[in-house]
Amino acid sequence: MFMHNKRLQYTVRVAEPNPALASLLLEQFGGPDGELAAAMRYFTQGLSEDDPGRKDMLLDIATEELSHLEVIGSIVAMLNKGVKGAQAEASMSEAELFMALNAGGDSHTQSLLYGGGPALTNSSGVPWTAAYIDSRGDPTCDLRSNIAAESRAKIVYERLINITDDPGIKDALGFLMTREIAHQKSFEKALYSIADNFPPGKLPGLSAYTDLYVNTSQGDGDATGPWNDGDQWDRLDDVAGNLPLDGGDGQATVGLDEDDKATAAAMLTRLKSDPTIDPPTGAALGAGPGAGRLDGLDYGGAGSMDEASALADRSTTSPEGGF
Ligand code: MN
Ligand code: MN
Repeated sequence: MFMHNKRLQYTVRVAEPNPALASLLLEQFGGPDGELAAAMRYFTQGLSEDDPGRKDMLLDIATEELSHLEVIGSIVAMLNKGVKGAQAEASMSEAELFMALNAGGDSHTQSLLYGGGPALTNSSGVPWTAAYIDSRGDPTCDLRSNIAAESRAKIVYERLINITDDPGIKDALGFLMTREIAHQKSFEKALYSIADNFPPGKLPGLSAYTDLYVNTSQGDGDATGPWNDGDQWDRLDDVAGNLPLDGGDGQATVGLDEDDKATAAAMLTRLKSDPTIDPPTGAALGAGPGAGRLDGLDYGGAGSMDEASALADRSTTSPEGGF
């Protein structure tokens, strides 16, 4: 069960209201790399995890992420407090209130629609979605995804820290950013505590292809590094000359019964294209300036932008000669 502690995990001291900054901070409230996404990601993974160590860690971190959601949401609420009160009590003149709501970004939507409370949206007002959670139920996949998610959250916090000069907000965001570093370390350790964690899953890769680097982009800029060169790699530079890699005919085939074969052949016959005819089309019927060449006639195809504007001018029909 969950209990609620009335004290935050980290103290929130906001110097003054700032609706535009509140709107930007929503990125870490209801955005893809935000705290709700993190909490739901680890909570759902933890519920189905059978390994007792990983289960405990996932539920610990999920619960901490909910506490971070509370911290970032409280910052947003404090930043909107002045405008929220002014809006509810209509204490400013219409013009002043308009200016306060329209402080920038998405802040007017946060104020008008959500009343200044932290909304479950990202900084552009896009509603939070469970599609942000990409768990697959395999710990070697999900821990890698969690490591990537923590690194993204760290970077977004870093960017948010760089756009505010409020020392209290910088301090709290610095704490949240730092906890993502700690979480990444826990997930890294948990991943490498699983023997044979690479490749993911139980089936081994095909040995002919696990060490193969396929150099499909050649010419100027071709580069080598430890990712494609050295003892670990077999390089394939003659890509076209070695297709298909399996030595087959490189075609796609399927086994069909006689009925399916007859149906497929009938459809092929009905939809067959005839390259020997040059049929009239509706494009020729309605062709005007700029239509290009149709049926051997030149309908004023433009070869350059200058020609195109000249054609556009010629086609102007208003008596004044303007649009
Ligand atoms: Mn967090
Ligand atoms: Mn985290």
